[in-house]
Amino acid sequence: MTNNTDLCSADYETRRLKALDDYQILDTPEESAFDEIVEVLSFICETPIAVINFIDRDRQWFKAVKGLGVRETPLDISICTHAILQRELFIISDTTRDPRFANNPLVADDPHLRFYAGALLESRDGYPLGTLCVLDYRPRELSERQRFALQALANQVMAHMELMHAHREQVELVSQLEATRKELSKLATTDPLTGLLNRRAFERRLDQEVSLIKRGAPPAALMLIDLDNFKTVNDTLGHKAGDEVIVCFTKLCREAFRQADVIGRWGGDEFMVMLPRSSVAEAQHAAERLHQLLAATPMRNDTFSPFFSTASIGVCSLNGSSNMEKCLHRTDKLLYRAKELGRNRTVCEA
Ligand code: GH3
Ligand code: MG
Repeated sequence: MTNNTDLCSADYETRRLKALDDYQILDTPEESAFDEIVEVLSFICETPIAVINFIDRDRQWFKAVKGLGVRETPLDISICTHAILQRELFIISDTTRDPRFANNPLVADDPHLRFYAGALLESRDGYPLGTLCVLDYRPRELSERQRFALQALANQVMAHMELMHAHREQVELVSQLEATRKELSKLATTDPLTGLLNRRAFERRLDQEVSLIKRGAPPAALMLIDLDNFKTVNDTLGHKAGDEVIVCFTKLCREAFRQADVIGRWGGDEFMVMLPRSSVAEAQHAAERLHQLLAATPMRNDTFSPFFSTASIGVCSLNGSSNMEKCLHRTDKLLYRAKELGRNRTVCEA
């Protein structure tokens, strides 16, 4: 603890209050761990009153209190504000004989407090936060063992508060780690430009679906989509505009397919869609919806004039006897056929 001049400075008081805030103890509900400490202390010291008290900005607030009917009192009549100025026990055997307290309304009037003994509650970095104290209505002393108990229990109050503080920090840390883990997992599975599943994550999802189908789930359909003449977009409008077209196209895909359909960015201007529980005919229907959306919705952005894009699509079935590699190869061939036939169309497995 620093000297008394420092203790009175506004700057010191600000830091002291911050240290107190850091424990997040003010205005918390009663807790048995603290209630039991004042109960035991009052028993050992044979005093009617025992209090765990913190000195806030303009009040003293009691975390636990035995024998007083209130949980806070104004600072100007507080005896504890004197007690927190020293590390040693602060003991007033008879308040009426001490000029600092004789005129205090708690001494001169009801409840006529005559005896006070307080042990400092000190933060881990040395700021006085409050006191653990006992009071009586008659002048008296504390025995050596009672003084020891007062100091030991004050140490226990701070030890408990440190544990609560460490626990809160740990909970906060765990929640930050969990958020980071989620973020990393998202980064590892998401295509940064479109927010769609990346190729690796899509393949994993496809693997799961194939396993389900092999165990009896209905067949799915697999669709490979490739934007037509996309190189021209890059060449004429620039790569950045090309990126924006890919983002616009992604939005249309989200509109065209069902919530249950899984869309992934396969690479470049290629997109893969897996439609669970769907026949090739149903997938063809969805592909037509996408062609129509593309024909009705121009690619637009602040940086280029609106224009229409088209896409070519290959569709095949993913059933119990499917080998995933072969299936992917087949959709690629079907897509290639769609390009050969003049683009802007869907070719399905026969
Ligand atoms: P086709 O109709 O035969 O598909 O012709 P295409 O011009 O679309 O050619 P292709 O699909 O073979 O090439 C796609 C081009 O997309 C190649 C590459 O320069 C470009 N590309 C790949 N990834 C990106 C990207 O992330 N952003 C942009 N702007 N362009 C990309
Ligand atoms: Mg293309």
